[in-house]
Amino acid sequence: MRIVVLAGGIGGARFLRGLKSAAPDADITVIGNTGDDIHLFGLKVCPDLDTVMYTLGGGIHEEQGWGRAGETFAVKEELAAYGVGPEWFGLGDRDFATHIVRTQMIGAGYPLSAVTEALCARWQPGVRLLPMTDDRVETHVLIDDPEAGGAEGAAEGRAPRKAVHFQEYWVRLRASVPAHAVIPVGAEQAKPAPGVLDAIAGADVILFPPSNPVVSVGTILAVPGIREAIAEAGVPVVGLSPIVGDAPVRGMADKVLAAVGVESTAAAVARHYGSGLLDGWLVDTVDAAAVSEVEAAGIRCRAVPLMMTDVAATARMATEALTLAEEVRT
Ligand code: GDP
Ligand code: CA
Repeated sequence: MRIVVLAGGIGGARFLRGLKSAAPDADITVIGNTGDDIHLFGLKVCPDLDTVMYTLGGGIHEEQGWGRAGETFAVKEELAAYGVGPEWFGLGDRDFATHIVRTQMIGAGYPLSAVTEALCARWQPGVRLLPMTDDRVETHVLIDDPEAGGAEGAAEGRAPRKAVHFQEYWVRLRASVPAHAVIPVGAEQAKPAPGVLDAIAGADVILFPPSNPVVSVGTILAVPGIREAIAEAGVPVVGLSPIVGDAPVRGMADKVLAAVGVESTAAAVARHYGSGLLDGWLVDTVDAAAVSEVEAAGIRCRAVPLMMTDVAATARMATEALTLAEEVRT
């Protein structure tokens, strides 16, 4: 069975580990979000691709969910001693090596997809990991800018605003201020990376893990051609809710959902994807009351435990998703 999964970082990676355990013989292609990518210290950092690669390759810091296990921070401390930041982004010594290799290869002319393949030759994640695009896409978040002077915005009776990089919003500001808009800068001009559209067209099942619907899956779907290919693939598309009991299980997804006018409920996220894209949707058992609402929107829905507490529990979630996919297959 050929399975295509659209993945962000932690939620996507943990789900993939369960999926591999539930379907050991499946041929899994992961289309990874690169909207979180950032250039730091002259290096290209791809947080979501690396989280998937390290998690599936056995190198992840388990408790934290991102970064390397057994990490040290000597380089970061030395940079700080020179007054060189940002200090708010955690880059460890082991992790630095990945970004150095990536940046060196990109400098030599390799596209990100080829670089990712080369990095995965070491990590052997057991899936084919493709960036959504080889082109530069950077998610920016529009926030209030109380420090800005001038009449712009004030003329419309509101505070001036500014766009910041997603990582600045998420990591430095901890999503503590309202997000007015989420903009995947460069997405409109981006092309799906080699292999992405072929994987979708050749899939037997397409899964949306419990990744962030706006800044992970939403960004992947913003690359022209990907959403259309999924809708036209003619195979079951099944998603799992990252929202459990009206709140994200982890992180601040509610903040970016609000920016796109979507309530933080399992049903609202399903309706946001819509029946044009989704055939099936899994909500947690605590959200069982949402099943009828999702089904009324034309999406088959089941309530099952959706907490990825360990690989066995996550594998059961993956099995439920594959079972629902068979149910909706026409
Ligand atoms: P990120 O790029 O590291 O933020 O990771 P993703 O976008 O792949 O996933 C983030 C989402 O995973 C968050 O919105 C969480 O609510 C969700 N999530 C994390 N752990 C769990 C879990 O155990 N169960 C469910 N259903 N969602 C989870
Ligand atoms: Ca991410």
